[in-house]
Amino acid sequence: MSTESMDPEQEPQRRADRPLRFRATLDVIPAYQPGKPPAPVEGVTSYKMSSNENPYPPLPSVAAAVADELTSMNRYPDPSMHELRERLARELGVQPDELIIGNGSSGVLSQIVNACVDAGDEVIYAWRSFELYPICVAAAGGRSVQVPLTADGRHDLPAMAAAVHAATRIVIVCTPNNPTGPAVGSGELADFLAGVPADVLVLIDEAYLEFVTASDAIDSLALYRAHPNLVLLRTFSKAYGLAGLRVGYAIAHPHVAAALAKLGLPFVVTNLAQRAAVASLDVRGELELRVKSLVAQREQMVVALAEQGWDIPDTQANFVWLPLGQDAVEFAAAATARGLSVRPFPGDGVRVSIDEPVANETFLEVAAAFRLGMPRA
Ligand SMILES: *Cc1c(COP(=O)(O)O)cnc(C)c1O
Repeated sequence: MSTESMDPEQEPQRRADRPLRFRATLDVIPAYQPGKPPAPVEGVTSYKMSSNENPYPPLPSVAAAVADELTSMNRYPDPSMHELRERLARELGVQPDELIIGNGSSGVLSQIVNACVDAGDEVIYAWRSFELYPICVAAAGGRSVQVPLTADGRHDLPAMAAAVHAATRIVIVCTPNNPTGPAVGSGELADFLAGVPADVLVLIDEAYLEFVTASDAIDSLALYRAHPNLVLLRTFSKAYGLAGLRVGYAIAHPHVAAALAKLGLPFVVTNLAQRAAVASLDVRGELELRVKSLVAQREQMVVALAEQGWDIPDTQANFVWLPLGQDAVEFAAAATARGLSVRPFPGDGVRVSIDEPVANETFLEVAAAFRLGMPRA
């Protein structure tokens, strides 16, 4: 310590003048932009098509299970999540100790990044992709290496493999990719995995797994069994319709899961969320019918947009991506005027979640009108 800082006259004065100090890395963390609720338009029913949520309300049995759990909210939830853990393990064909269950898959993602990334370490992912990736990496003090998507919104897996070097700790593959929609194919992913060193964690974010219908869809659990460095990330928020209750999980080999578990806070998944997740697994068949319906509406929307002249990437998720470039914000405003909240990424494109048929129809009307006003390429 210098004599100056110990000066009894100076020190209290300087401290009183100084603002609180935060970690330097906070200066490089981009702010998360959540999908906005629709702005009310008089005489128009509004729909939130900006957050890729499930538009269907909870099934009665799931709502009843949550209601039943309300009387125990004075108690902490089961920190081991025993019932949900055993049930999920059985459904997935893994051991209970291969599951990290958390506060949405976002919570688990943060746990994974914090378990692997020290200051200066690198995390590779495609861009544009899920907005939480740059935030989590920067929060851990790591460096994001963003590999551009191909022109049709796909992961460039060879370029991502080529970007791996000594400082790489994690490569994230988001499939289907949020916000563009395409899923990676099984062949290209196998080639990619063969080229990534065993000391790099490969995280496959499968938030939209249940909506995939492509014929070359990956068998992620089979890949997981073959690759000890592979971790799968899944959620109850989208297909299962539990976004508001916050429950997601990772499937990781026991030695990986044990490391991740060290950063898990106790009690992050409420007893309501645990019960709802189990009750949802009980009615999986009914939920799958809803997913089928959303996929059918997605396919109709894709056909209709093509007929209007839009050239959009393939989508295997519950949303479509309009690569509008500089027109993204203007398009979002046109949707807002019709009561639809969509998700613009300024200068890049607009992501629109599949909603109820009436909302999807209105969206197609907005898209058609906007298209007519656009200069032809
Ligand atoms: C929605 C989403 C998630 C997770 O959401 P949670 O609600 O935190 O489970 C994760 N990854 C991607 C790519 C998403 O779009």
